[in-house]
Parts: sequence; C-alpha cells; structure tokens
Amino acid sequence: MRIYVCIKQVPDTSGKVAVNLDGTLNRASMSAIINPDDMSAIEQALILKDATGCQVTAVTMGPPPAEGMLRELVAMGADDAVLISSREFGGSDTFATSQIIAAAISHLGIGKDDIIFCGRQAIDGDTAQVGPQIAEKLDIPQVTYATEIDKKDNVVVVKRMLEDGYMMIEVQTPCLITCVKEKNVSTRYMTINGIMDCYSKPLTILDFEALKDEPLIEIDTIGLKGSPTNIFKSFTPPQKGVSVMLEGDGRETIADLVDRLQKKHVI
Ligand SMILES: Cc1cc2nc3c(=O)[nH]c(=O)nc-3n(C[C@H](O)[C@H](O)[C@H](O)COP(=O)(O)OP(=O)(O)OC[C@H]3O[C@@H](n4cnc5c(N)ncnc54)[C@H](O)[C@@H]3O)c2cc1C
Repeated sequence: MRIYVCIKQVPDTSGKVAVNLDGTLNRASMSAIINPDDMSAIEQALILKDATGCQVTAVTMGPPPAEGMLRELVAMGADDAVLISSREFGGSDTFATSQIIAAAISHLGIGKDDIIFCGRQAIDGDTAQVGPQIAEKLDIPQVTYATEIDKKDNVVVVKRMLEDGYMMIEVQTPCLITCVKEKNVSTRYMTINGIMDCYSKPLTILDFEALKDEPLIEIDTIGLKGSPTNIFKSFTPPQKGVSVMLEGDGRETIADLVDRLQKKHVI
C-alpha cells in the first residue's frame, strides 16, 4: 500500500502580502510555507503509516527550490518524494495542474490498495479544485473534508467534517481523500534522525520529458497554453464601512458596545 500526499508550497500570507502591478501575487518577495491543509494531509498519511507500515510519498508540482520542502516532509516521516517540475508546466491553472499531477501519479503507478491525499484547499489559489480534479482524471472515487482516516483491507473509513456535524463514510481503494484541519490536532515535527536521513532518501524529479508519453499529457492541456482559465480582472474590494476601536475600561467599553448595537437594532 502506498499513499501519495500532494503538497503545495504557497506564499506565507500571514505577513505582508505583495501584489504585482498586474494584480498577481509577487511570490518571489514572500517566504514560502507548506499549505496548511496539506499539513493535515501529511499527518493523516503518517498516522496510517504508523498503523500499517505503508509507504508514504510526498508529491509536489513547483519550481526546483520546492525540493527543500520535500526534504522537510521526508524528515517528518515520508519515505520518498517526487518533484514535478518543468518549464512546460509553468503557468498552469487548476485544470492543467491536476492533469499533470494525475499523469505523474499514473506514471509512478497506482495500485488497488493505494490512496492519494490532498489538502482541501490551497491558501493562494484557494479554489479547492485540484484534489477532486485529480480523482476525476484518474477515474477513482473521492472523499472531501476528511479529519480522520482508517483503513480496513481495501476499504477506507473516513470521518468528514461538515458545517453542522460529522459524516462517516466508507470508500474503496484506490481513492483520493482531501483533508482539513481538526482544531485540536497538530502536525508532528521533523525528527533529528529524520533530518539527518532526509538527504539520503529517494527524490524523483519528473519533467516534461519523463511524462510526455503519459496519455493525460498533451502540450495543449498543460502550462499556460493548456489552461482554460482566464483572469479578466483582479482587484482589492473597496472598504465598505469605517471601523471603530473601543478602548478603555472593560465595563465601560462593553456598555458602549451594547449601546451602539441596540441603537442599530442588532440586539
Ligand atoms: C492562467 C493561470 C496561470 C497560473 N500560473 C501559475 C504559475 O505559473 N505558478 C503557480 O504557482 N501558480 C499559477 N497559477 C495558479 C495555479 O492555477 C494554482 O495555484 C494551482 O492550480 C492550484 O490551485 P489552487 O491553488 O486553487 O489549489 P487548490 O485546488 O485549492 O488545492 C487543493 C489541494 O490540491 C493540491 N495541490 C494544489 N496544487 C498543487 C501543486 N502544485 N502540487 C501539489 N499539490 C497541489 C494540494 O494538496 C492542495 O491542498 C495560475 C493560475 C492561472 C489561472
């Protein structure tokens, strides 16, 4: 059994967000982090590895420096890593990204016991489309919003987080699962041994040349040329109202707040 975990390196938006004149993110000026939902995906995969001894493979599509992030994931417990990187893949939208990742996983081989984990959503593109699209392209079932995953033979039991509760669902492997973060569950740290070993573990680089014979890869379905999404306009919405800071003694501020809300008939 092998678990592929799709991990995206994203710009750290908790600090200053730099935007280019054309409205795109200035990624070069911002530090890169592992997409938060993908941390849940790797943790869920490592929990299954602890329970079953399965192989965990971290997969990313990105520029060559993404190798550093993959080494971190290996230091956390992944067995190996795959970097999908090529000039031909640059400028891909979600359709083309999922096409390329699906082709790469198909190239590496997906067995009847295997699972693909993704995060639910990336904090930069924010579409939550890539995971479900990979499943569609590989023609395997998918379960979204997973917080807990358990495997019995070739059936996976998934706990899904919904707005008003949880849903338990069973799915047959091979399948794709998108993961969300449960508030009280944290991701493990890299271990000292993991850090020492991470450069001796296998890292496969798949470029266009390696994938070009895969049925899903055609030059007009990848990269900017193969991306059907067009961004017509990108802008910061105008501020709707003026915010008011209530400062001072707690009791007085609360009384002031209640008074303001009552005047507006909010309470
Ligand atoms: C015309 C166009 C050109 C673009 N050009 C570029 C570009 O040159 N460089 C660029 O970085 N972005 C580019 N983008 C943005 C790019 O489309 C998205 O960032 C990307 O497709 C992922 O979509 P998302 O961020 O909404 O991910 P989501 O669908 O929200 O991600 C869900 C999950 O899918 C997995 N996933 C998503 N992306 C990857 C990945 N790359 N590797 C591994 N797993 C992944 C992760 O598990 C993630 O949690 C472009 C977008 C458009 C429309």
